[in-house]
Amino acid sequence: MPIGNLEHLTKCPLCQKEYGKFNLTVLDQTKEQTRLHLKCDYCESASLVFVVANQNGILSLGMVTDVTKEEARRALNSDPISGDDVMEIYEQLKKVEKVEELI
Ligand SMILES: [Zn+2]
Repeated sequence: MPIGNLEHLTKCPLCQKEYGKFNLTVLDQTKEQTRLHLKCDYCESASLVFVVANQNGILSLGMVTDVTKEEARRALNSDPISGDDVMEIYEQLKKVEKVEELI
């Protein structure tokens, strides 16, 4: 999957600074999905991003995390998350009308 489609992921969600190219780590990548770890130099926040391609286009889901890319890679290896899992989370999120419901 070409990472060039993911230009909206090039900024830190917290401080809005642009990531440098060395801040993005591809944890794993298949034809249908890519998992990325992003680390911000400015505010030190990290996020995990799941990108899934299906017939509807490309969907990305990001979450702020405090795991390092090494920890993320280990976790992914021991407990694989499938594209179906990501779609399930996405479907759940679509049902949520207020952000407060998530907290
Ligand atoms: Zn930041």
